[in-house]
Parts: sequence; structure tokens; C-alpha cells
Amino acid sequence: MVTQTKIWLSSPHMGGNEIAYVNDAFNTNWIAPLGPNVDLFENAIQDYINNEVHVAALSSGTGAIHLALEILGVSSGDEVLCQSLTFSASANPIKYLGATPVFIDSEYDTWNISPGLLEKAIKDRIVKSKKPKAIIAVHLYGMPYKVEALKAISKKYDIPIVEDSAEALGSMVNGVKCASFGTIGILSFNGNKIITTSGGGALVTDNKEFKAKAVFLATQARDNAPHYQHSHVGYNYRMSNVLAGIGRGQMEVIDDRVAARRANFEFYKKNLSHIEEIVFLDEPDGFFSNRWLSCILTESYEKRESIRYALLKEDIESRPLWKPMHMQPIFADAPKYTNGTSEDLFNRGLCLPSGSNLTDQDLERIVAIILKEFTP
Ligand SMILES: *Cc1c(COP(=O)(O)O)cnc(C)c1O
Repeated sequence: MVTQTKIWLSSPHMGGNEIAYVNDAFNTNWIAPLGPNVDLFENAIQDYINNEVHVAALSSGTGAIHLALEILGVSSGDEVLCQSLTFSASANPIKYLGATPVFIDSEYDTWNISPGLLEKAIKDRIVKSKKPKAIIAVHLYGMPYKVEALKAISKKYDIPIVEDSAEALGSMVNGVKCASFGTIGILSFNGNKIITTSGGGALVTDNKEFKAKAVFLATQARDNAPHYQHSHVGYNYRMSNVLAGIGRGQMEVIDDRVAARRANFEFYKKNLSHIEEIVFLDEPDGFFSNRWLSCILTESYEKRESIRYALLKEDIESRPLWKPMHMQPIFADAPKYTNGTSEDLFNRGLCLPSGSNLTDQDLERIVAIILKEFTP
């Protein structure tokens, strides 16, 4: 029997020049959390998103959310509104600051935070508790949230938005790139994201002072003095100059990576959408998803699991959608505003292998296994 290679959900995909930029760091002995690669990587992200933004390269997307919340003034005892259907890293930094997450359910057009429920929650918190300090909205799997509706709510109630674009580098609404819609945007370059620095993240903002504050806090908050003096609690969150070299190489191929992920989605859709029980999430008008992960909805939890097991048996990794935060044991006590959408998506949804390095044979192998699950 021929053994087939394992297919991962989303694996790193180097472009080729990364190693040269890493070598630059070695050859010049810039083995430090600052240096030319960091500046050039930040510039490359800025050029890609738009020239109005300032970018601070950091050690992780989680660290970027932590700094964003702190810069927006979130502190102990505050409340922060957060999309419930997301990875736990969106919500954990709320806890780092001693604040309380308030979880908001999704809508079916984008699977992201429901604007209607968000506004209801804001009104209710103001009456019952206090005005929330920030909103964390997420472009899940690369599909943008309803940016116009969210912006209007943010403005109406004067509550800033942390735009979690960890999964959405390259996604757009009306030609404008994600990470530039929120008061502060964040990116992740973790190993399974659309581009990677093996581990890393960035804070993106059109406010120059916010960037300066982020870099200050990320480098142990040193006051301007010849000795080490500190009047703030700081963090060690800056990106290493070695890893930023990987990032520079990855930014050279970002357009190819987006195209390849979108082609995966189109392949699945073309070969599976004739099956009535399988539903794909289409892009609303003006929305452009990087299709970081290609996801399907099945008719039931049982069917979702039977497809997942069939793939697993053939050494193919797939994954249920994120389990909503309001259903997680660690957040059991958090206030929540739910409508059943995220729980339904979690029960029926499956993320299919989506790497930009998948071959046509890989995709055909995956589709054949799924089709077998629908053959009587
Ligand atoms: C990956 C991810 C993060 C965290 O990024 P790290 O770089 O892994 O810390 C945050 N939010 C979402 C939605 C993510 O997918």
C-alpha cells in the first residue's frame, strides 16, 4: 500500500527570500528585538494596508490585543465587549487587565459579531452596569465583519474598536484593507496564519501616538533617562529582528498566498456545492475574504463529525469552527448576549485544509473523501 502524506489544516509556506533576510540579521549581528528587518517589515505591512497607518511589529497577536486594550485605557473592573465566536486569544487579554469580557453572538451573513445584538448589549450594560470601554470585533476565517455598522455604533456610543484581523491580512471591504477599520487593528503571524514569522504579531493604527505608546510598552516602558527608570509597568512584546526577516520575505508573496487560499475555496465550492446539505459562506457585496480557512456548514453535528472522522482516518486534518467563548468553562461567569447563531455554527461547521501549499491532488483527495460521505 502506498502511504499518503499527511495533509495539515494550514501549514507555513515560505516564499524563498526569507532565509536571505534572516542571514542579513546574522551577518550584521542584529540578533535583537530591534534592527533593520523590523523597520523594513513594518514598512512593508504599512505599504500593503495603506500609507495612513503606523505598524508596530510585536511578538504575538495576543500581545498586540493586550497593548491595544491598555492603550485604549482598559483597566481593572472595566467591561469589554467581545465577539463570542472566535479564538480564545481575542478574549484572554481582557482578563490580563483585570477587566470583564461581555460576549456578543454572531449573525449569519459573515459569522461575525451581530451589530443589532451589540447595540442592545451596549444599552443594557449602560443601564445595568456601566459603559463598556472597548469593542473587540473579529474578521473570522478572513471574512470581514460588518465594518460600516460597527463603525456607526462605535461613533454613536463613543466606544473604540479593537479590530482583530489576526486571520484577515489581505481581506477588504470596498477595496479597503482589513486592520485599518478599527481604532486599533491587530495582526498575527503565528505558524498557521496566511503569512508567518513562526510567531509574531503587529499593532496597526492611524494614530502615531498609539504606535509610539505600543513600542514604549512593548519594550519594558523605559522612561527617557540614562539609567533604567520606570513610571509604567512594561512588557517584553517587541518582535525579534531575526523573525522580522522571515516576515519581510513573506510580505513579498502575500498576494500569491491570498490568491492560493481563495483558489482552495473555489475548488471546494465547485466540487461540493451541488450537495444540498453543504453550505458555503459567500461574500456579501463589496466584501473580499482572504479565505484564510475554507469552511463548510453541514446539516447536523453528527454529519460534521462523520466527515471530520473520515478525513482523520486518511491522515487529513480538519477542525470544527471555534467554540464560542460564552460556552467555554473559563468564561462561564461572563455576561453574554446570545441568539443561538454561534452555537449553531459551532455545531455544524467544519474548517477544511486550507494551506496555500496544497496541491491539486491534495484537494482532489479531500473532496473525494467528503463526497463518499454523501454517497448512499
Ligand atoms: C491567531 C489569532 C490570535 C492570536 O494571535 P497569536 O499571534 O497566535 O498570539 C488572535 N485572534 C484570532 C482571531 C486569531 O486567530
